[in-house]
Amino acid sequence: MEDTYLHKGLRKKLIEDIQLKGINDHKVLDAMNKVPRHLFMDSSFVHFAYKDQAFPIAANQTISQPYTVAFQTQLLDVSKNHKVLEVGTGSGYQAAVLIEMGAQVFTVERYKILNVGAQTLLPKIGYKPHFFYGDGYEGLPTYAPFDRIIITAAASSIPEKLVSQLKAGGKMVVPVGSRVSQIMTLIIKTEENNYKTSEHGSFVFVPMLKGKA
Ligand code: SAH
Repeated sequence: MEDTYLHKGLRKKLIEDIQLKGINDHKVLDAMNKVPRHLFMDSSFVHFAYKDQAFPIAANQTISQPYTVAFQTQLLDVSKNHKVLEVGTGSGYQAAVLIEMGAQVFTVERYKILNVGAQTLLPKIGYKPHFFYGDGYEGLPTYAPFDRIIITAAASSIPEKLVSQLKAGGKMVVPVGSRVSQIMTLIIKTEENNYKTSEHGSFVFVPMLKGKA
């Protein structure tokens, strides 16, 4: 569980690269500079932790590319104390970034092995989101409404049930599209029964699937 000067140096370089690629929100860059990404990956992959690449984790899933995490987080526009729902805990890395930004994080994962893995790792390194094992398509009605919702898997259409769990004025960021590629979509809930959407380029995510696994 070490975060050495070497790791810190590689991480700083990665953050500079992401900045050059167009991420300019310093709250996002500072948060990502603090999270030891190498601890979220299998130890045999640590040498890849600070490359700007997605990487395999358990259950055939991936830890998103750092640039993609930064892009989604910047678009999400998180403030301190925001109540944030994340669909797709995966490694737990995105949840840690949101916590570094001062958010109160509720994260849902459909694979038990990933839910347990993140639930074991994150508190050990100082991050305490609320973990849930279940189908993120259902959201968390008991804890709704949320200020922000971030979906880190590819949805085939806008998940309306989740939009209904957003506060009026709230924002949701979700990649929407086919299995091959998706459009990063920002949803702003303008009032209780209304929302507007905008599109922010194409990305590739693992699919958002129904049910638990
Ligand atoms: N945010 C993660 C990225 C993980 S990849 C990280 O920082 O590492 C996307 C994750 O979404 C996968 O773990 C996948 O199992 C999960 N997922 C897909 N469909 C889901 C659903 N309906 N509910 C909850 N999680 C889901």
